[in-house]
Formats: sequence, C-alpha cells, structure tokens
Amino acid sequence: MAIQSTNPSTGKVVKIFEEWSSAQTSAALSSVAVSFNDWRNSSFLRRAECLRSLAGLLRDRVDKFAHLMALEMGKPVKSGRAEVLKAATVCDFYAENGQDMLLSESLTVDGMQAYVEYSPLGTVLAVMPWNYPVWQVIRIAAPTLMAGNTMVLKHASNVPQCALAIEEAFTDSLFPDDVFRTLLIGAGQVEDVLKHDSVIGVCLTGSEAAGRCVAKAAGVNLKKSVMELGGSDAFIVLADADLSKAAETGAQSRCSNAGQACIAAKRFIVHKDVYEPFIIKLKAEMESIKMGDPFDSETVMGPMASFQFREDIHDQVQRSISAGGKIRLGGLIPESDGAYYPPTIIQDMSFDADVSREEFFGPVALVFRAEDDDQAMEMANDSCFGLGGSVWTQDEEKGLKLARRIEAGLVYLNGRVSSRPPLPFGGIKNSGYGRELSTYGIREFVNVKSICIG
Ligand code: NDP
Repeated sequence: MAIQSTNPSTGKVVKIFEEWSSAQTSAALSSVAVSFNDWRNSSFLRRAECLRSLAGLLRDRVDKFAHLMALEMGKPVKSGRAEVLKAATVCDFYAENGQDMLLSESLTVDGMQAYVEYSPLGTVLAVMPWNYPVWQVIRIAAPTLMAGNTMVLKHASNVPQCALAIEEAFTDSLFPDDVFRTLLIGAGQVEDVLKHDSVIGVCLTGSEAAGRCVAKAAGVNLKKSVMELGGSDAFIVLADADLSKAAETGAQSRCSNAGQACIAAKRFIVHKDVYEPFIIKLKAEMESIKMGDPFDSETVMGPMASFQFREDIHDQVQRSISAGGKIRLGGLIPESDGAYYPPTIIQDMSFDADVSREEFFGPVALVFRAEDDDQAMEMANDSCFGLGGSVWTQDEEKGLKLARRIEAGLVYLNGRVSSRPPLPFGGIKNSGYGRELSTYGIREFVNVKSICIG
C-alpha cells in the first residue's frame, strides 16, 4: 500500500510520500537506541514532565490534528477534537500514576529480603491503524515511554500526515530527541524492524490478518507482542431493558467513527419479547444520525476512511441479504463523491451464516432474536472474537451475573463499551492478547525483575 493521504470525502489524492529505504529505517532505529541509554536512566519526575508537555501540545494543536484526521480518514472534526483531548488525558494519567505503578516491591521470601522491580527494556515498535490515528498511538506511547522505553511508530499508510504531526508534537515537547520517532515505512519493512537488536517488542492494533503476520514475525525473533485486533461485540438487550437508552447508546456505538471501531456494538442480540420495539427505536436513532462533510463542525458521521472499506462493507451487506437478512434501514450507496455509507440495520439473518461471523467495520447493525437470556449468552459467546460486549437490563444483579459470563476483555452493564485509562483494555480469542492502559498496560514492556538478597 502506497504511503499517501487520500481525502475520502472526495477521493482525491492529497499527498504522496516516498517510503523510507531500509538504510533510513536502520539509521532511525540506531538513533532511537542511542536515546534509550539516557532515557532509561531518567527520573519518573522528568518523564512525567515530558508527558505533561506533550499533553499541552496536543491540546494546543487540537484543531490541526482534527483537520488532518478529517482530511486523511474522514473523521468529523468534532469527533477528532474529542479524540485528541482524550489522548492528552492519557498522557496526564501516566504522568500522575506511572511511577506508583512501577514502584519496586519489597517482600520476604524464605527468610531472604527480595525485591520485584520493573525496568525498561529498549525500543518498542507500534504498528498502528488509521481509525483513531492519534488516540491509538498516544494510548500506547504514554505508558511505554513513562516506563523508560523508547518507541518507533509504523502508522497505517493512509495517515502519514497524522503520523508526522504526532512526531512533530514529540519533537516540540520536552521529550529529548529520538525517544519517539515515526518511521515512514510500509508493512513490508515491519519484519526487518523486529530483527533489529534494539527493538524488544511490538504492539499492534489492527486486523486479525495483520496481527497474525506481525505476531509470527515477533515470535520468530523472540520479541514480545501485544495484539489489539478486531471485535464483533455483542450488545445484549434483555426483556426488562430500558429500550430507549439502549437504542440511543447502541446507535451511537454502532455509527460513531462511521462504524470503524473495534469496540463498536456490532451484534445486537435482543430478547424476543422486545425484539420489534427495540428495532423500532434503534431505527429511529440511527435514522437521526446525519452523514455529512467531516470538515463541518456539526457533522456527526463522515465518510468511511476509504472507498475500499465502503466496498468491503457493502459486500458484507449484500452477502447478509443472500443469507436471509432483511434490510430495515440503509444498505444503499448514496450518490455523492465521497466514500459515504449510511447507517444500516439488518435483521433476521441466520445466526449461523458465515457472514454473521465476520467483523462488520462500518455503520451496519446486525440484529438477532434470542428466545431467552441463556440463548442470548450462548449467541454472544458463539464468536471467534472476544473484545468487548454489553448487557442491557434493569436488574443489576442479573446483569452482573450475565456480564461475568461474556467471553470478552471488557464488558459494560447498561453502558457503551469504551476505553478508559484506569481500566485494562484488550481482548481474548481472535481479538488478541495482552493489555493496554491501566497498570497492566504499563507493565507489558518491562523487565519484571526479582532481586533476592541471600
Ligand atoms: P490493517 O490491520 O491491515 O492495518 C493496521 C496496521 O497494520 C497498519 O499500520 C498496516 O500497515 C499494518 N499491517 C497490515 N498488514 C501488515 C503485515 N502483514 N505486516 C506488518 N504490518 C501490517 O487494517 P486495514 O487498514 O487493512 O483494515 C482492515 C480491517 O482491519 C478492518 O476492516 C477491521 O476489521 C480491522 N481493523 C481493526 C482495527 C482495530 O481497532 N482493531 C483498526 C483497523 C482495522 P499498512 O497501512 O501499511 O498496510
């Protein structure tokens, strides 16, 4: 894939970048390796200062980043601004809490004094996607750098200007040079980067296919990997749910970012007693979401990130119809220049159809009917993915029991699945492994070292 910005609202190529040669990549990795020698010995206080200054720059440049995201992947500027501000909060979060999360632990073992310490390891490679171009990068960079590691970013090839603007923010902040670098490389160079001695691990957010390739390359090189892959989150509506609130939240979750989110509600599993009333409400909510120009400050839903992604989702919709699904809303490509796809609802598709097992990465809600709560649980767990999920019921005790049965890394009861810095974020099954955010995230790329005084 060429490294280039293409405006999905118009289809026009905005800027093309030449991919770095392997010599350029090696030179950048060597510079980052040199920086690691100082950065690993910096105090937590200094690292926190650097993170706070980065947070300040992200806030100052919120409009610039929002504009670049609208330009390169069609995110409405209003959502882009919220994303950048959220990224700033994760810097503040680790500046505030990172040191406590990595404090040396003291314990007595068999009469000996022992310590467990968390020390930095080297350079972490971040292979990142285009759907949240700022948040995803800062979410992994903040804890990784606070732990004393350095980082190189291989961003998705369709968001190079976002990638360079992130690097620029690091350069202009208090961070020393070469603690964080953007590599302008395609997927083909990732394996070589992993062979570099200074690179100690990789975290990837993206598709299952990319995850398998990069995890394999990491394994061959005995480098640690953290994988945040796709999801097909169940949104379970029980008979006693607050249908209005569930429908409003479900529509937002499904259509936010034009449906291109790993933790979006994707499979709506609805108790038979409220099946039709819920669909009526969901349809009203999704209909009210207006698509439009991402540069317009009032737009809630922009185009999809590329024409290819729109083709992919439309193909899934067509195959869903072939599998018995009925279109209740949308499903037609609008006549406009951009890669727009409307909010769409498909109901009554066979749960066993192959296509219903796929991740729908666009604003398409699949609605399935469950005979009872147990069947709803079985359907929720009958998926190769296990990222997030939500349960909607007014009986909190029952809801909590069911939430515990959902096979996923993150479950909300009567709420929209979202990532929050204090909570671990990540999946099970084909949604990946390892955790980001929280104490668990900052401890992914450290040497958990035991020291024992005999
Ligand atoms: P990819 O998974 O292909 O891209 C994500 C990142 O991985 C990009 O930086 C990409 O680089 C890189 N990459 C892809 N393949 C390889 C490889 N073989 N070796 C090394 N790096 C690789 O996402 P797509 O853009 O193709 O999106 C397709 C699907 O991925 C979506 O429909 C969705 O299902 C899923 N996805 C999930 C995301 C999530 O948040 N979980 C985010 C984005 C996508 P490059 O851009 O240069 O190819």
